[in-house]
Amino acid sequence: MNEMNRLIIATGNTHKTEEIRKLLGSIFENIEDLQSYPEIGEIDEIGSTFQENAELKALEVGKALGDSTLILSDDSGLEVDALDGAPGVRSARFSGENATDSNNRKKLLNELEAINAQGESRTARFRCVMVLVKGDQKLADFNGVVEGKIADLEKGKGGFGYDSLFIPQGYDMTFAELPSDTKNAISHRANALAAFKSWLLDPDSKK
Ligand code: IMP
Repeated sequence: MNEMNRLIIATGNTHKTEEIRKLLGSIFENIEDLQSYPEIGEIDEIGSTFQENAELKALEVGKALGDSTLILSDDSGLEVDALDGAPGVRSARFSGENATDSNNRKKLLNELEAINAQGESRTARFRCVMVLVKGDQKLADFNGVVEGKIADLEKGKGGFGYDSLFIPQGYDMTFAELPSDTKNAISHRANALAAFKSWLLDPDSKK
């Protein structure tokens, strides 16, 4: 297969990969993630920003897989204004090193309750930074954001992570209640991938 028809997502999170597959449609013949490369193992996310972690993940996988494969990383998370931007880069591990999505959501609700954040004090956003590399060469990065607020209770069964707590601006349902096509039309990941798609059409636009 022509290597340009192949994209590796530098994540083991199958929810992210599924959203990315759906959003990129048939642009690439083959989209795989790190589930296909168990030898690469966990990558320690030691950066203090989404950008640093996205670069670290993409370059580590790029070095492991060599020169010819296109690799796209996704570092993303939730920033809650009343918590000074937490959980932020610690979104996946908010409730500890062996955190589950469910425990992370409980901790978030507890922290907002502890400071009595209600109504307009619950504004938040999902942020996504993607870095594209080939081997050890960084080609470009792409950013996406979706604004919203944190619900009072978990609602809905779709999605993953904090979806059942996040109500995007302009809606009155959480990402987990809304159809996945709606999330994929407005999400932080969709916005970052729109920039990636523009770059694929005109790589010189971002040099
Ligand atoms: P990462 O693997 O370090 O990028 O961690 C991302 C974490 O942010 C996930 O484990 C989720 O907790 C959260 N997150 C990122 N994107 C989403 C999303 O689209 N929906 C819900 N939670 C998300």
